[in-house]
Amino acid sequence: MDLNQFIRVVPDFPKPGISFKDITPLLLDAQAREVCLKQLVAPLKDLRATKVVGVEARGFFFGMAIARELGIGFVPVRKPGKLPFETVAQSYDLEYGTDTLEIHSDAIKPGDRVILHDDVLATGGTAAASCELIQKLGGKVVACSFLMELSFLNGHEKLSGQTVHRVLSY
Ligand code: AMP
Repeated sequence: MDLNQFIRVVPDFPKPGISFKDITPLLLDAQAREVCLKQLVAPLKDLRATKVVGVEARGFFFGMAIARELGIGFVPVRKPGKLPFETVAQSYDLEYGTDTLEIHSDAIKPGDRVILHDDVLATGGTAAASCELIQKLGGKVVACSFLMELSFLNGHEKLSGQTVHRVLSY
C-alpha cells in the first residue's frame, strides 16, 4: 500500500509558500491508518521505552496509538496556557519571533525512556524543543518518530545525536 496517496498536499496553507501536508485522509481510512501505525511502531518495539510524548495537536493522533501499541503512557506537549497543572516551558526560534511549548512537570520522571512523536519533521525546531522538555525533567529520548520528514528543510540536523524514524519522506 502506498501511504503517500493518503497525504493531501494543500498549497499555500496556512500562508503563501507553505505546502501543507494534510494527514486527515490517512486518519479517515482505517486500513491505511493501521498500516501506517504498524510501520511507525516497528522500529520502536525493542527500545524499552516507558513513555510516548506527542506534540500538539497532530502528534496526538498517532502518538496515543503508538503508546497503546507499546502498552506505555502518553504525555501531551502543548502550546502555552493549555495544561492545567504545574508546567515546564521551552522556547524556540521561528523564522520570525519565537514560540513556546509546555509539558506537565510530573509527566516525565528521571530514568524515563521516551519516544517523541509528531506528524511532520520540518525545520526541527518543534521536535528539538520537545526533546529539551523531556531532558529537563530527567527523561532520555530513545527515538524521535514522525509520519513524515520534509528532508529538504534539514530538520534532523537540529536533532543531532537522536535516532530519527519516519514512515514517509518528501
Ligand atoms: P518544525 O518545527 O519546523 O519542524 O515544524 C514542525 C511542526 O509544524 C509540526 O508540529 C507540524 O505539524 C507542523 N508543520 C510544519 N510544516 C508543515 C507542513 N508543511 N505540513 C504540515 N504540518 C507542518
